[in-house]
Amino acid sequence: MTPEHEGVASLVMTARSGLPPRRKAGKPPVHHPRVLIAGGGVASLEALLALRALLEGRPAIEIVAPSREFVFRPLAVGEPFWLSEARRLDLEVIAREHAAHLRLGAVDIVQPDRATVVLQDGTELPYDALVIAIGARSVTWLGGAVSFAGSRDSRAIANILSELEEGRIERIAFAAPPAMGWPLPLYELALLTEAHTARNGVDVELTIVTPEHEPLEAFGPAGVRLLRELLAERGIALRPGATAERLQGGRLLLVGGDSVAADRVIALAGIEGRPLPGIPSDPAGFIPVDEHCRVAGLEGVWAAGDNISFPVKQGGLATQQADAAAEDIAAVFGAALEPAPFRPVLRAQLLTGEAPVYLSSGASGRSAAGFSPLFSPQSKIAGRYLGPYLDGRRHPGRPEVLTDIEPPSADLATQLAEEEEARELLLTLAGGAAHFGDERTARQYREAVEHIDGTFAAGGHTPQSKRTVKRPPGRS
Ligand SMILES: Cc1cc2nc3c(=O)[nH]c(=O)nc-3n(C[C@H](O)[C@H](O)[C@H](O)COP(=O)(O)OP(=O)(O)OC[C@H]3O[C@@H](n4cnc5c(N)ncnc54)[C@H](O)[C@@H]3O)c2cc1C
Repeated sequence: MTPEHEGVASLVMTARSGLPPRRKAGKPPVHHPRVLIAGGGVASLEALLALRALLEGRPAIEIVAPSREFVFRPLAVGEPFWLSEARRLDLEVIAREHAAHLRLGAVDIVQPDRATVVLQDGTELPYDALVIAIGARSVTWLGGAVSFAGSRDSRAIANILSELEEGRIERIAFAAPPAMGWPLPLYELALLTEAHTARNGVDVELTIVTPEHEPLEAFGPAGVRLLRELLAERGIALRPGATAERLQGGRLLLVGGDSVAADRVIALAGIEGRPLPGIPSDPAGFIPVDEHCRVAGLEGVWAAGDNISFPVKQGGLATQQADAAAEDIAAVFGAALEPAPFRPVLRAQLLTGEAPVYLSSGASGRSAAGFSPLFSPQSKIAGRYLGPYLDGRRHPGRPEVLTDIEPPSADLATQLAEEEEARELLLTLAGGAAHFGDERTARQYREAVEHIDGTFAAGGHTPQSKRTVKRPPGRS
């Protein structure tokens, strides 16, 4: 097994030198620090929640984001299939709930020597601590392909599904971008397409083209094994170690001269950094940070999320980087804690159109995969504070910590059968409650089904019909 297959544990932070001291010698502690968070996405919200948990009411926290909307993107993959939709939350409400202020605007320049940021409208804002969480820019990279980056591309994918259903095309290639990023949504699109077309009795030829050596190799051996079996089971061809180059006459040409038959190509959008004047960046525009997410060479500036130069761009990791930054900031401002460094642990839920797959891999070398949840609460973005917060908005009183669950000893086929049994029972109970006019209870049962299906965070709908589950992987 090569280092590429050892999962996220084989990845290290990129910058470890040139770090500022934690607090300048002789500099008095700031009693009412002003923390500025640039960005209104996953890392920003996690940083807000973590700072409030660690420093309570002390810091004045301001979020600067261009929009009032927080978009929970992962469920956008279900939109073309009417399974789920990207959940949208009001950032201003969340900020208010956590005694923070939302300022609409975009950070244009950072002036670390003056500890201020300048917004695009010219406003200058001072900070004692700055967290840069402005994410990355999505880019189309394969001419002629349908690019997928989220909700705005759902219609284009739905159009391809219509073409498949009408029998006008039958071969689809799914292409992962050349740089690493986060390939999981591509596997979801392929699996959801297969489930959708199978349900509608449509013949298709689906191929995933990826530069990874193994499918979802960041999850380590257990994830790779399950993915290989699942793709084979669903008849989805895999071209690992391959990079798509261009489309030509019904074929997707690969770098090196090989090709794949394809009537249409769905390409997962690539990502590039959003360089900010005043902040160092690597050649791809990402910010070098140390293991506490301090920006290399600057005092009072941290960065977390897709905008840092960590190669895997995932929401769960973005929250862990935000946690590392928040702990370090809290320590700087006098909290009695030893800030934990960022040690990546990947947790994911893969939508398949049938039972979702749970995957995890971590710094300790754990690699687990199966049909039973591996962490709780279940969320497409498993954040220590954000996961329970989002879950709690729907179910007040639920546990407030993200907890890992030991992989069950049951084999995959048994896990799948148990999940299916629970789902069928809940659907029956929902039907019974609805029959007796108890809509509230029926809704609770349906929400429990959505949890099992992995579409819950969307507030999605529950298919009333039986889900067709094929022969589970691992059973010959
Ligand atoms: C289709 C899809 C599916 C995905 N599925 C999953 C999944 O299942 N699980 C998972 O964990 N991750 C998933 N991800 C990845 C996850 O969405 C990202 O890793 C995560 O959103 C990164 O968080 P972030 O805070 O760094 O950036 P974002 O969430 O992108 O937030 C960046 C924020 O910064 C704001 N901003 C931009 N420029 C500025 C500026 N100059 N000043 C101020 N604010 C600015 C933006 O408006 C935005 O509010 C998926 C991504 C996609 C595209």
